[in-house]
Amino acid sequence: MLDPEEIRKDFPVLNRIINNRRLVYFDNAATTHKPVQVIKAIEEFYTKHNANIHRGLHTLSQEASQMYEEAHEVIAKFINARSWREVIFVSNTTEAINTVAYGWALWNLREGDEIIVTIMDHHSNMLPWRLIAQLKNARVKYVDVTDEGYLKYEQLEELITERTRIVAFPIASNVLGTINESRRIAKLAHEVGAIVVADGAQSVPHIPTNVRELEVDFLAFSGHKMLGPTGIGVLWGREDILEEMKPFKVGGDTIKDVTLDNVVWHDLPWRFEAGTPNIAGGIGLAEAVKYLVKIGMENVREHEISLTEYTLKRFEELAGDLEYYGPRKATDKTAVIAFNIKGLNHHTVGMALDLFGIAVRTGMHCAHPLHYRLGLTGSVRASYYIYNTHEEIDYFIEALEKIIEMKDVLSKEKPSTVCTGT
Ligand code: PMP
Repeated sequence: MLDPEEIRKDFPVLNRIINNRRLVYFDNAATTHKPVQVIKAIEEFYTKHNANIHRGLHTLSQEASQMYEEAHEVIAKFINARSWREVIFVSNTTEAINTVAYGWALWNLREGDEIIVTIMDHHSNMLPWRLIAQLKNARVKYVDVTDEGYLKYEQLEELITERTRIVAFPIASNVLGTINESRRIAKLAHEVGAIVVADGAQSVPHIPTNVRELEVDFLAFSGHKMLGPTGIGVLWGREDILEEMKPFKVGGDTIKDVTLDNVVWHDLPWRFEAGTPNIAGGIGLAEAVKYLVKIGMENVREHEISLTEYTLKRFEELAGDLEYYGPRKATDKTAVIAFNIKGLNHHTVGMALDLFGIAVRTGMHCAHPLHYRLGLTGSVRASYYIYNTHEEIDYFIEALEKIIEMKDVLSKEKPSTVCTGT
Protein backbone atom coordinates (compact mmCIF):
# COMPACT_ATOMS: atom_id res chain seq x y z
CA MET A 1 0.00 0.00 0.00
CA LEU A 2 1.35 3.44 -0.85
CA ASP A 3 1.96 6.12 1.76
CA PRO A 4 0.27 9.36 0.67
CA GLU A 5 2.03 11.38 3.39
CA GLU A 6 5.42 10.40 1.96
CA ILE A 7 4.21 11.10 -1.59
CA ARG A 8 2.89 14.54 -0.62
CA LYS A 9 6.45 15.67 0.15
CA ASP A 10 7.19 15.53 -3.59
CA PHE A 11 4.32 17.92 -4.44
CA PRO A 12 5.13 21.44 -3.21
CA VAL A 13 1.84 22.86 -4.47
CA LEU A 14 -0.04 20.81 -1.88
CA ASN A 15 1.35 23.18 0.78
CA ARG A 16 -0.62 26.06 -0.69
CA ILE A 17 -3.00 27.84 1.64
CA ILE A 18 -6.30 28.63 -0.06
CA ASN A 19 -8.79 30.85 1.75
CA ASN A 20 -6.83 30.34 4.98
CA ARG A 21 -7.04 26.53 4.72
CA ARG A 22 -4.58 23.99 3.49
CA LEU A 23 -5.39 23.11 -0.10
CA VAL A 24 -7.37 19.90 -0.59
CA TYR A 25 -7.00 19.08 -4.25
CA PHE A 26 -9.85 16.89 -5.49
CA ASP A 27 -9.77 17.92 -9.17
CA ASN A 28 -7.44 15.22 -10.43
CA ALA A 29 -9.68 14.02 -13.25
CA ALA A 30 -9.20 17.46 -14.82
CA THR A 31 -5.46 17.55 -14.23
CA THR A 32 -3.01 16.30 -11.61
CA HIS A 33 -0.15 18.05 -9.88
CA LYS A 34 3.48 17.40 -10.80
CA PRO A 35 6.10 15.99 -8.44
CA VAL A 36 9.47 17.75 -8.11
CA GLN A 37 11.06 14.87 -10.02
CA VAL A 38 9.06 15.79 -13.14
CA ILE A 39 9.63 19.51 -12.73
CA LYS A 40 13.39 18.88 -12.33
CA ALA A 41 13.56 16.58 -15.37
CA ILE A 42 12.09 19.34 -17.53
CA GLU A 43 14.38 21.95 -16.00
CA GLU A 44 17.39 19.70 -16.54
CA PHE A 45 16.49 19.18 -20.18
CA TYR A 46 16.30 22.91 -20.80
CA THR A 47 19.38 23.78 -18.75
CA LYS A 48 21.67 21.02 -20.09
CA HIS A 49 20.43 19.30 -23.24
CA ASN A 50 18.08 21.58 -25.15
CA ALA A 51 18.27 21.10 -28.92
CA ASN A 52 15.98 20.06 -31.72
CA ILE A 53 15.85 16.31 -32.32
CA HIS A 54 16.58 14.11 -35.35
CA ARG A 55 18.09 16.73 -37.58
CA GLY A 56 21.36 17.45 -35.85
CA LEU A 57 24.67 15.68 -35.75
CA HIS A 58 25.91 17.81 -32.89
CA THR A 59 26.11 16.47 -29.35
CA LEU A 60 23.16 18.34 -27.85
CA SER A 61 20.87 17.26 -30.68
CA GLN A 62 21.94 13.67 -30.25
CA GLU A 63 21.36 13.83 -26.50
CA ALA A 64 17.92 15.37 -26.97
CA SER A 65 17.02 12.80 -29.64
CA GLN A 66 18.06 9.94 -27.41
CA MET A 67 16.13 11.28 -24.40
CA TYR A 68 13.03 11.81 -26.52
CA GLU A 69 13.22 8.35 -28.08
CA GLU A 70 13.80 6.74 -24.71
CA ALA A 71 10.69 8.51 -23.44
CA HIS A 72 8.68 6.58 -26.05
CA GLU A 73 10.23 3.36 -24.77
CA VAL A 74 9.30 4.16 -21.17
CA ILE A 75 5.67 4.68 -22.18
CA ALA A 76 5.66 1.55 -24.34
CA LYS A 77 6.83 -0.54 -21.40
CA PHE A 78 4.32 1.10 -19.06
CA ILE A 79 1.37 0.03 -21.22
CA ASN A 80 3.03 -3.22 -22.38
CA ALA A 81 3.08 -2.24 -26.06
CA ARG A 82 4.84 -4.71 -28.35
CA SER A 83 7.12 -1.97 -29.63
CA TRP A 84 7.89 1.69 -28.93
CA ARG A 85 7.07 2.28 -32.60
CA GLU A 86 3.41 1.94 -31.56
CA VAL A 87 3.68 4.94 -29.22
CA ILE A 88 2.94 8.29 -30.84
CA PHE A 89 3.40 11.46 -28.85
CA VAL A 90 0.61 13.95 -29.43
CA SER A 91 -0.53 16.94 -27.39
CA ASN A 92 -3.36 15.26 -25.44
CA THR A 93 -6.18 12.72 -25.58
CA THR A 94 -8.23 14.99 -27.78
CA GLU A 95 -5.51 15.18 -30.42
CA ALA A 96 -4.91 11.44 -30.19
CA ILE A 97 -8.54 10.67 -31.03
CA ASN A 98 -8.65 13.25 -33.81
CA THR A 99 -5.51 11.62 -35.25
CA VAL A 100 -7.46 8.37 -35.65
CA ALA A 101 -10.55 10.15 -36.92
CA TYR A 102 -8.69 12.05 -39.64
CA GLY A 103 -5.93 9.49 -40.26
CA TRP A 104 -8.00 6.30 -40.31
CA ALA A 105 -11.72 7.07 -40.49
CA LEU A 106 -11.50 9.82 -43.08
CA TRP A 107 -9.79 7.44 -45.49
CA ASN A 108 -11.67 4.24 -44.69
CA LEU A 109 -15.31 5.11 -44.01
CA ARG A 110 -17.87 4.82 -46.77
CA GLU A 111 -21.35 6.23 -47.07
CA GLY A 112 -23.77 4.37 -44.82
CA ASP A 113 -21.07 3.03 -42.51
CA GLU A 114 -21.72 3.17 -38.79
CA ILE A 115 -19.75 4.38 -35.79
CA ILE A 116 -20.74 3.37 -32.29
CA VAL A 117 -20.00 5.65 -29.36
CA THR A 118 -21.24 5.49 -25.78
CA ILE A 119 -23.38 8.11 -24.12
CA MET A 120 -20.83 8.24 -21.30
CA ASP A 121 -18.06 9.37 -23.64
CA HIS A 122 -16.28 12.66 -23.09
CA HIS A 123 -16.89 15.07 -25.98
CA SER A 124 -13.31 14.33 -27.09
CA ASN A 125 -14.34 10.79 -27.99
CA MET A 126 -17.70 11.80 -29.41
CA LEU A 127 -17.41 14.98 -31.46
CA PRO A 128 -14.55 13.84 -33.75
CA TRP A 129 -16.72 10.86 -34.75
CA ARG A 130 -19.72 13.05 -35.35
CA LEU A 131 -17.81 15.39 -37.63
CA ILE A 132 -16.24 12.53 -39.55
CA ALA A 133 -19.65 10.90 -39.89
CA GLN A 134 -20.98 14.14 -41.35
CA LEU A 135 -18.08 14.34 -43.80
CA LYS A 136 -18.49 10.74 -44.94
CA ASN A 137 -22.28 10.39 -44.77
CA ALA A 138 -21.85 7.79 -42.07
CA ARG A 139 -24.05 7.34 -39.03
CA VAL A 140 -23.26 7.59 -35.31
CA LYS A 141 -25.15 5.32 -32.91
CA TYR A 142 -25.06 5.63 -29.13
CA VAL A 143 -24.93 3.00 -26.42
CA ASP A 144 -26.89 4.01 -23.35
CA VAL A 145 -26.09 3.47 -19.66
CA THR A 146 -28.18 1.82 -16.96
CA ASP A 147 -29.49 3.91 -14.10
CA GLU A 148 -26.54 2.67 -12.01
CA GLY A 149 -24.12 3.99 -14.64
CA TYR A 150 -23.04 0.75 -16.32
CA LEU A 151 -22.88 0.39 -20.06
CA LYS A 152 -25.84 -1.46 -21.63
CA TYR A 153 -23.93 -4.33 -23.20
CA GLU A 154 -27.07 -6.02 -24.55
CA GLN A 155 -27.91 -2.83 -26.42
CA LEU A 156 -24.36 -2.68 -27.77
CA GLU A 157 -24.82 -6.21 -29.14
CA GLU A 158 -27.95 -5.07 -30.95
CA LEU A 159 -26.37 -1.87 -32.29
CA ILE A 160 -23.33 -3.57 -33.80
CA THR A 161 -24.01 -4.66 -37.38
CA GLU A 162 -22.05 -5.57 -40.48
CA ARG A 163 -21.99 -1.82 -41.22
CA THR A 164 -20.15 -0.95 -37.99
CA ARG A 165 -16.62 0.23 -38.78
CA ILE A 166 -15.62 1.92 -35.50
CA VAL A 167 -16.51 1.32 -31.86
CA ALA A 168 -15.33 4.07 -29.50
CA PHE A 169 -15.65 3.99 -25.72
CA PRO A 170 -13.94 5.22 -22.55
CA ILE A 171 -12.08 2.63 -20.49
CA ALA A 172 -13.28 4.70 -17.52
CA SER A 173 -15.91 7.44 -17.47
CA ASN A 174 -14.79 10.90 -16.33
CA VAL A 175 -18.14 11.44 -14.59
CA LEU A 176 -19.43 8.09 -13.37
CA GLY A 177 -16.02 6.49 -12.89
CA THR A 178 -17.46 3.30 -14.42
CA ILE A 179 -14.77 0.95 -15.69
CA ASN A 180 -15.98 -0.60 -18.91
CA GLU A 181 -15.30 -4.14 -20.08
CA SER A 182 -12.78 -3.54 -22.86
CA ARG A 183 -12.34 -7.12 -23.99
CA ARG A 184 -16.08 -7.70 -24.19
CA ILE A 185 -16.54 -4.56 -26.29
CA ALA A 186 -13.49 -5.29 -28.47
CA LYS A 187 -14.64 -8.86 -29.12
CA LEU A 188 -18.06 -7.70 -30.34
CA ALA A 189 -16.48 -5.04 -32.56
CA HIS A 190 -13.85 -7.33 -34.01
CA GLU A 191 -16.45 -9.96 -34.91
CA VAL A 192 -17.77 -7.54 -37.54
CA GLY A 193 -14.33 -6.22 -38.52
CA ALA A 194 -14.68 -2.83 -36.81
CA ILE A 195 -11.74 -1.04 -35.19
CA VAL A 196 -11.87 -0.21 -31.49
CA VAL A 197 -10.81 3.19 -30.18
CA ALA A 198 -10.47 3.38 -26.40
CA ASP A 199 -10.24 6.61 -24.46
CA GLY A 200 -7.79 5.93 -21.64
CA ALA A 201 -7.65 9.49 -20.26
CA GLN A 202 -9.24 8.39 -16.98
CA SER A 203 -7.85 4.88 -16.81
CA VAL A 204 -4.14 4.91 -17.71
CA PRO A 205 -3.26 7.22 -14.78
CA HIS A 206 -5.20 5.06 -12.30
CA ILE A 207 -5.37 1.40 -13.35
CA PRO A 208 -2.56 -0.92 -14.50
CA THR A 209 -2.74 -0.85 -18.30
CA ASN A 210 -1.80 -3.66 -20.63
CA VAL A 211 -2.72 -2.83 -24.22
CA ARG A 212 -2.37 -6.46 -25.26
CA GLU A 213 -4.97 -7.53 -22.72
CA LEU A 214 -7.37 -4.71 -23.50
CA GLU A 215 -7.57 -6.05 -27.06
CA VAL A 216 -8.39 -2.60 -28.46
CA ASP A 217 -6.79 -1.16 -31.61
CA PHE A 218 -6.13 2.37 -30.35
CA LEU A 219 -5.69 3.85 -26.90
CA ALA A 220 -5.54 7.59 -26.20
CA PHE A 221 -4.37 9.28 -22.99
CA SER A 222 -3.02 12.58 -21.62
CA GLY A 223 0.22 13.20 -19.73
CA HIS A 224 -1.15 15.99 -17.57
CA LYS A 225 -3.65 13.67 -15.89
CA MET A 226 -0.85 11.35 -14.72
CA LEU A 227 1.69 13.68 -13.08
CA GLY A 228 3.18 14.78 -16.41
CA PRO A 229 3.22 18.23 -18.00
CA THR A 230 0.45 19.69 -20.12
CA GLY A 231 0.80 19.60 -23.90
CA ILE A 232 1.88 15.97 -24.14
CA GLY A 233 -0.29 12.90 -24.65
CA VAL A 234 -0.13 9.51 -26.26
CA LEU A 235 -1.81 7.69 -29.07
CA TRP A 236 -1.00 4.01 -28.92
CA GLY A 237 -2.05 1.99 -31.95
CA ARG A 238 -1.58 -1.53 -33.24
CA GLU A 239 1.45 -1.48 -35.49
CA ASP A 240 -0.21 -3.16 -38.47
CA ILE A 241 -3.04 -0.60 -38.43
CA LEU A 242 -0.67 2.35 -37.95
CA GLU A 243 1.40 1.13 -40.90
CA GLU A 244 -1.68 1.43 -43.11
CA MET A 245 -2.96 4.67 -41.59
CA LYS A 246 -2.48 8.09 -43.17
CA PRO A 247 -0.90 10.89 -41.13
CA PHE A 248 -3.41 13.47 -39.95
CA LYS A 249 -0.93 16.35 -39.79
CA VAL A 250 1.91 16.40 -42.29
CA GLY A 251 5.05 18.41 -42.84
CA GLY A 252 8.50 18.32 -41.30
CA ASP A 253 9.67 15.00 -39.84
CA THR A 254 6.81 12.95 -41.24
CA ILE A 255 8.71 11.85 -44.33
CA LYS A 256 11.80 10.00 -45.54
CA ASP A 257 11.79 11.65 -48.93
CA VAL A 258 9.68 13.99 -51.01
CA THR A 259 9.83 14.61 -54.72
CA LEU A 260 7.29 16.62 -56.65
CA ASP A 261 5.54 13.37 -57.62
CA ASN A 262 5.94 11.22 -54.57
CA VAL A 263 6.18 11.06 -50.76
CA VAL A 264 7.87 8.27 -48.82
CA TRP A 265 6.46 8.45 -45.31
CA HIS A 266 8.77 8.11 -42.34
CA ASP A 267 8.93 5.04 -40.08
CA LEU A 268 6.63 4.77 -37.08
CA PRO A 269 6.09 6.70 -34.91
CA TRP A 270 7.69 9.75 -36.59
CA ARG A 271 5.24 9.68 -39.49
CA PHE A 272 2.59 10.86 -37.02
CA GLU A 273 4.65 13.41 -35.09
CA ALA A 274 4.67 16.34 -37.48
CA GLY A 275 6.91 19.33 -36.86
CA THR A 276 9.09 19.94 -33.84
CA PRO A 277 7.40 17.96 -31.09
CA ASN A 278 7.02 18.73 -27.39
CA ILE A 279 10.46 17.33 -26.56
CA ALA A 280 10.59 18.51 -22.95
CA GLY A 281 6.99 17.36 -22.49
CA GLY A 282 7.82 13.83 -23.65
CA ILE A 283 10.81 13.70 -21.31
CA GLY A 284 8.65 15.04 -18.46
CA LEU A 285 5.97 12.44 -19.13
CA ALA A 286 8.54 9.64 -19.05
CA GLU A 287 9.71 10.92 -15.65
CA ALA A 288 6.09 10.91 -14.44
CA VAL A 289 5.69 7.32 -15.59
CA LYS A 290 8.90 6.32 -13.81
CA TYR A 291 7.46 7.89 -10.66
CA LEU A 292 4.23 5.89 -11.01
CA VAL A 293 6.14 2.69 -11.74
CA LYS A 294 8.15 3.18 -8.58
CA ILE A 295 4.96 3.42 -6.55
CA GLY A 296 3.40 0.54 -8.48
CA MET A 297 0.15 0.90 -10.41
CA GLU A 298 -1.43 -1.91 -8.36
CA ASN A 299 -0.79 0.21 -5.27
CA VAL A 300 -2.23 3.30 -6.97
CA ARG A 301 -5.38 1.35 -7.75
CA GLU A 302 -5.65 -0.11 -4.26
CA HIS A 303 -5.26 3.32 -2.65
CA GLU A 304 -7.91 4.83 -4.90
CA ILE A 305 -10.37 2.01 -4.23
CA SER A 306 -9.88 2.59 -0.53
CA LEU A 307 -10.51 6.36 -0.87
CA THR A 308 -13.58 5.77 -3.05
CA GLU A 309 -15.03 3.11 -0.76
CA TYR A 310 -14.54 5.42 2.22
CA THR A 311 -16.22 8.37 0.47
CA LEU A 312 -19.23 6.33 -0.62
CA LYS A 313 -19.59 5.02 2.92
CA ARG A 314 -19.40 8.53 4.40
CA PHE A 315 -21.87 9.74 1.76
CA GLU A 316 -24.46 7.44 3.33
CA GLU A 317 -24.53 9.84 6.30
CA LEU A 318 -25.64 12.57 3.91
CA ALA A 319 -28.06 10.37 1.96
CA GLY A 320 -31.10 12.61 2.55
CA ASP A 321 -29.34 15.62 1.12
CA LEU A 322 -26.88 14.21 -1.38
CA GLU A 323 -27.17 12.03 -4.45
CA TYR A 324 -24.27 10.62 -6.41
CA TYR A 325 -24.02 9.00 -9.81
CA GLY A 326 -22.35 5.86 -11.06
CA PRO A 327 -21.61 2.42 -9.62
CA ARG A 328 -22.05 1.87 -5.88
CA LYS A 329 -19.19 -0.61 -5.85
CA ALA A 330 -15.76 1.05 -5.55
CA THR A 331 -14.08 -1.82 -7.40
CA ASP A 332 -16.26 -1.17 -10.46
CA LYS A 333 -15.11 2.41 -10.79
CA THR A 334 -12.19 4.80 -10.62
CA ALA A 335 -11.82 7.43 -7.91
CA VAL A 336 -14.16 9.88 -9.65
CA ILE A 337 -17.32 10.76 -7.74
CA ALA A 338 -19.94 13.04 -9.25
CA PHE A 339 -22.72 14.21 -6.96
CA ASN A 340 -25.21 16.95 -6.17
CA ILE A 341 -26.58 18.43 -2.97
CA LYS A 342 -30.33 18.44 -3.32
CA GLY A 343 -31.70 21.96 -3.70
CA LEU A 344 -28.32 23.54 -4.45
CA ASN A 345 -26.79 24.41 -7.78
CA HIS A 346 -23.56 22.48 -8.45
CA HIS A 347 -21.61 25.71 -9.05
CA THR A 348 -22.76 27.07 -5.68
CA VAL A 349 -21.48 23.91 -3.99
CA GLY A 350 -18.16 24.16 -5.83
CA MET A 351 -17.69 27.79 -4.82
CA ALA A 352 -18.62 27.02 -1.21
CA LEU A 353 -16.10 24.14 -1.14
CA ASP A 354 -13.43 26.50 -2.44
CA LEU A 355 -14.00 28.65 0.64
CA PHE A 356 -12.93 25.58 2.62
CA GLY A 357 -9.83 25.27 0.41
CA ILE A 358 -11.29 22.24 -1.37
CA ALA A 359 -10.85 22.16 -5.16
CA VAL A 360 -13.51 20.22 -7.07
CA ARG A 361 -14.88 20.61 -10.56
CA THR A 362 -18.46 21.62 -11.32
CA GLY A 363 -20.46 21.63 -14.53
CA MET A 364 -21.05 18.94 -17.11
CA HIS A 365 -17.41 17.84 -17.37
CA CYS A 366 -17.44 17.79 -21.20
CA ALA A 367 -20.11 15.10 -21.04
CA HIS A 368 -23.30 16.97 -21.83
CA PRO A 369 -25.22 14.04 -23.37
CA LEU A 370 -24.54 11.94 -20.27
CA HIS A 371 -25.82 14.68 -17.96
CA TYR A 372 -28.94 15.15 -20.08
CA ARG A 373 -29.47 11.38 -19.98
CA LEU A 374 -29.26 11.50 -16.17
CA GLY A 375 -31.68 14.46 -16.12
CA LEU A 376 -29.03 16.82 -14.72
CA THR A 377 -27.89 20.33 -15.53
CA GLY A 378 -24.51 19.56 -13.98
CA SER A 379 -22.74 17.93 -11.09
CA VAL A 380 -19.97 18.43 -8.57
CA ARG A 381 -17.06 16.08 -9.18
CA ALA A 382 -14.44 15.03 -6.63
CA SER A 383 -11.60 12.98 -8.06
CA TYR A 384 -8.63 11.58 -6.19
CA TYR A 385 -5.05 10.62 -6.80
CA ILE A 386 -2.04 9.19 -5.02
CA TYR A 387 -1.52 12.17 -2.70
CA ASN A 388 -5.07 12.30 -1.35
CA THR A 389 -5.83 11.00 2.11
CA HIS A 390 -8.72 9.67 4.20
CA GLU A 391 -8.29 12.70 6.49
CA GLU A 392 -8.93 14.99 3.54
CA ILE A 393 -12.15 13.06 2.88
CA ASP A 394 -13.22 13.55 6.52
CA TYR A 395 -12.63 17.28 6.12
CA PHE A 396 -14.56 17.24 2.81
CA ILE A 397 -17.54 15.52 4.47
CA GLU A 398 -17.44 18.07 7.31
CA ALA A 399 -17.45 20.88 4.75
CA LEU A 400 -20.40 19.29 2.93
CA GLU A 401 -22.29 19.01 6.23
CA LYS A 402 -21.76 22.71 6.85
CA ILE A 403 -22.88 23.54 3.33
CA ILE A 404 -26.01 21.45 3.83
CA GLU A 405 -26.69 23.28 7.13
CA MET A 406 -26.48 26.57 5.25
CA LYS A 407 -28.60 25.34 2.36
CA ASP A 408 -31.37 27.90 2.84
CA VAL A 409 -28.94 30.80 2.60
CA LEU A 410 -26.84 29.28 -0.17
CA SER A 411 -29.81 28.38 -2.35
CA LYS A 412 -30.47 32.11 -2.75
CA GLU A 413 -26.96 32.57 -4.20
CA LYS A 414 -26.78 32.99 -7.93
CA PRO A 415 -23.84 30.94 -9.19
CA SER A 416 -21.58 33.33 -11.03
CA THR A 417 -19.57 30.88 -13.09
CA VAL A 418 -20.83 28.81 -15.94
CA CYS A 419 -18.12 26.37 -16.78
CA THR A 420 -18.61 23.03 -18.41
CA GLY A 421 -15.16 21.39 -18.74
CA THR A 422 -13.16 19.13 -18.52
N1 PMP B 1 -11.45 11.87 -22.34
C1 PMP B 1 -11.73 11.82 -21.03
C2 PMP B 1 -12.44 10.62 -20.48
C3 PMP B 1 -11.36 12.88 -20.21
O1 PMP B 1 -11.65 12.84 -18.92
C4 PMP B 1 -10.71 13.99 -20.78
C5 PMP B 1 -10.30 15.19 -19.94
N2 PMP B 1 -11.21 15.55 -18.98
C6 PMP B 1 -10.43 13.96 -22.15
C7 PMP B 1 -10.82 12.90 -22.88
C8 PMP B 1 -9.73 15.10 -22.83
O2 PMP B 1 -8.41 15.18 -22.36
P1 PMP B 1 -7.49 16.36 -22.89
O3 PMP B 1 -8.19 17.62 -22.51
O4 PMP B 1 -6.22 16.18 -22.15
O5 PMP B 1 -7.37 16.20 -24.35
